[in-house]
Amino acid sequence: MSTAAPDSNTAASNPNDAVQPTQEDEITIHGLRATELNELTQASLKAKELAYCPYSLFQVGAAILTTTGEVIVGANVENAAYPVGTCAERVAMGNAVMKGFGMLGSKGMGEREDGTGVASPCGMCRQFIREFCELDTPIFMHDKDGSYVVKTLGELLPLSFGPEALPSRGSRLQSLPER
Ligand SMILES: [Zn+2]
Repeated sequence: MSTAAPDSNTAASNPNDAVQPTQEDEITIHGLRATELNELTQASLKAKELAYCPYSLFQVGAAILTTTGEVIVGANVENAAYPVGTCAERVAMGNAVMKGFGMLGSKGMGEREDGTGVASPCGMCRQFIREFCELDTPIFMHDKDGSYVVKTLGELLPLSFGPEALPSRGSRLQSLPER
């Protein structure tokens, strides 16, 4: 387990001030600079506060860092019909797709929750993320104290099934029997 600085913010307080890269900023963790990881951590923490969870009272936040440096967030959104509720990870990924970040657009994902362990995506979310991210995409799973475990998507979903496993729609149509 690696430990992140929970609430340090290295961004300049004045948006007009350029953030000078520090030595810390050169450190990369699964391809993310320290400042990028911090941004992801803070964004998922902030997103968590926006959760709609009147039934579970369990807030979860997720954030995606895109390959162009944008951070896109999501939180869990529950429903009176319990199974209809959606996890933070799928809300974030859906937001990313709506913003035009499809396959290969993600550099990393962070999650935060207040449970007893780290915020680990459920099985359904792992498969959902698999549709849009490369298997080496790192997923930083934070606990309530800011410590995290990082695993790649491939480690979280081994021997996974993805869109490339399906024949193209054109070839499927060709294989249908003629009527
Ligand atoms: Zn989920």
